[in-house]
Amino acid sequence: MTSRRTRLAPSPTGALHIGNASSFLINWAIARKYDWEILLRMEDLDGPRKKGETIQTSIDILTWLGIDWDGEMILQSEGIQHSRDALKSLINQNLAYHCELTRKEIDAVASAPHGTAKQRNNSIRQNNIHKHNKQEVPLCTNWRFTASHCSMQLEDMCCTTSPQIVESDFVIWTKSNSPSYQLAVVVDDHRQGITDVIRGNDLFHSAALQSQLYEALGWNIPTWWHLPLVLGADKKRLAKRHGDSRLETFRNEGIPPERIIGLIATWCNIQDNLTPMNAITFCKELDVPSIPKKNKIFTQKEKQWLFDF
Ligand code: GLU
Repeated sequence: MTSRRTRLAPSPTGALHIGNASSFLINWAIARKYDWEILLRMEDLDGPRKKGETIQTSIDILTWLGIDWDGEMILQSEGIQHSRDALKSLINQNLAYHCELTRKEIDAVASAPHGTAKQRNNSIRQNNIHKHNKQEVPLCTNWRFTASHCSMQLEDMCCTTSPQIVESDFVIWTKSNSPSYQLAVVVDDHRQGITDVIRGNDLFHSAALQSQLYEALGWNIPTWWHLPLVLGADKKRLAKRHGDSRLETFRNEGIPPERIIGLIATWCNIQDNLTPMNAITFCKELDVPSIPKKNKIFTQKEKQWLFDF
């Protein structure tokens, strides 16, 4: 076993769709192919209050596809203390400030006619920083990270990257007294020893923000792999208006998982024609450098084929 480790990190906020299946299957196949460890972390910090059922459905769907993981499933909500410690470390370094302003209000200050963008941002920071005793950190308020506002060129194993612009200080702790996604994911990936973050390219910009947090916390930045997304015919993210692309629906309709995997295999250049395939074969046949960089469209024809069993 090598010392590399990745993770599957579904949010139990909604039903998993064919695009999630693609990312999770590729993530899993890369891990199993290279003999890395792969963890399952449920990112349950937001979403419905009663998450038990959604979490179980996500687990059932992954298992149905033939995806497995090492060790017990981890609940993100059980590790909040670690994010709190990271927040305190950032506060102690003067790299975070609490700020009641909404995004809109901040944008309004930032686009005011006087001064440079940098001066305006600094005024927001100065008006909000150091107003508290560092030993008594108010947690039921928004905390923002003093980001470096710059253009960042990230290295990525999968996507052709354009520079990512970090324009503003972003929220790391929310007024509901819990870490934001950006902070929680960095803290968890670090403490769970994740060396390779593999996920959809909709999170590519987040990697820029997260890289800044890693640096501020003195931690190694993982290797990024941002995979192509699966889009609707209008090239927009899959949504209800594109019809039902939920895996749960496909499973309930009796579609064999091998059809889902066979379709993803064509997207990954493993096969030219739509033919069913199981997860083990997918893993064996996947040529990692051949994973396409461009997003895929889930066509009506492909959907029809899924139902044609
Ligand atoms: N939980 C996040 C999502 O489902 C993914 C987080 C990540 O991979 O960094 O969008």
